[in-house]
Amino acid sequence: MKYISTRGETAHKPFSEVLLMGLAPDGGLMLPEHYPQIDRCTLDRWRGLDYPGLAFEIMRLFVTDIPEDDLRDILDRTYTEAAFGTKEITPVRTLSDGIKIQALSNGPTLAFKDMAMQFLGNAFEYVLNKEGKKLNILGATSGDTGSAAEYALRGKKGVNVFMLSPDGKMSAFQRAQMYSLQDGNIHNIAVKGMFDDCQDIVKAVQNDAAFKEKYHIGTVNSINWGRIVAQVVYYFAGYFKATQSNDEQVSFCVPSGNFGNVCAGHIAKQMGLPIRRLIVATNENDVLDEFFKTGAYRPRNSAHTYVTSSPSMDISKASNFERFVFDLMDRDPQEINTLWAEVAAGKGFDLQFALDKVGGKYGFTSGKSTHADRLATIKQVYEQDQEL
Ligand SMILES: *Cc1c(COP(=O)(O)O)cnc(C)c1O
Repeated sequence: MKYISTRGETAHKPFSEVLLMGLAPDGGLMLPEHYPQIDRCTLDRWRGLDYPGLAFEIMRLFVTDIPEDDLRDILDRTYTEAAFGTKEITPVRTLSDGIKIQALSNGPTLAFKDMAMQFLGNAFEYVLNKEGKKLNILGATSGDTGSAAEYALRGKKGVNVFMLSPDGKMSAFQRAQMYSLQDGNIHNIAVKGMFDDCQDIVKAVQNDAAFKEKYHIGTVNSINWGRIVAQVVYYFAGYFKATQSNDEQVSFCVPSGNFGNVCAGHIAKQMGLPIRRLIVATNENDVLDEFFKTGAYRPRNSAHTYVTSSPSMDISKASNFERFVFDLMDRDPQEINTLWAEVAAGKGFDLQFALDKVGGKYGFTSGKSTHADRLATIKQVYEQDQEL
């Protein structure tokens, strides 16, 4: 399996190389040349597998340049009961109204980002060791990403983490999670300012190719393909838990920010998992809801992004969205270059015609919630089912 860039100007690359990449050199995002197709017979066989076994079967289709025994070992060490609390890794429970909840946040930092980041930590260590390379991860966080990355990379050989966070602006819980780590390769840097100021420093470094090269700077942000592919696995796992047989369809509702999580759902559906709908759930920052309702993509700047009670979703320029639009535009990189030139110019674009053309093929639909909606839902579910 080789990987291509959504902007079309990057040579086809194997998984191990894509794993260590942020943006492609042409400014695009990396995707597999094609999505492996899973037939009914294979699905039937996968239904009986445990989580690491299922992860292996899915990932070996995308990771063809790591020997299978090594991949299996990485996954067996990643998806353990010790790290995720149960053997099921992502257990599914059913509410009295029939809606099912798949628990993705039982990992070491209690953020769903652990699902992918724990894999990334072990995969980075493996690839760096094999190639005799070192990597300095530079990142910015307002909470979830930073702690998940630090717990995944602590003590790993060949990797240092330099994580910028806004001084005094994170939750006390996440501050304690991050700042109490004593591992020699973890460096927390509190920046006097807001999250955006941290992000600006990272961007400035990212734009300095010579500096990046000299100091082996890498990232762990959500455009990393290794994170997306690890997330594809739990859509299959959730589907098997929620159904009795592979005739059934399941819809997934996915709280979305950078479109990474639901992009993995899109890939699972394209592989042939019987997903009916992918519901993109946003908060008050509803750029994606607007797109799926009207076809208009109008990214906003930080001055027009609300600070809400669900800060991991306070995003108005969803980086992984480009991966879906690439598929929507029949994988034509020229289209992507044109559309993102509009985005860079501070405008946006309108793809209603493309959404109309594909009809229900991709299964996307969307909705938004307000702070009051969220409190009411949490309260109602707790009263009804004593589930929090
Ligand atoms: C990261 C995160 C999100 C957004 O996920 P994306 O993959 O960026 O769409 C939503 N909720 C929580 C709690 C998160 O940590």
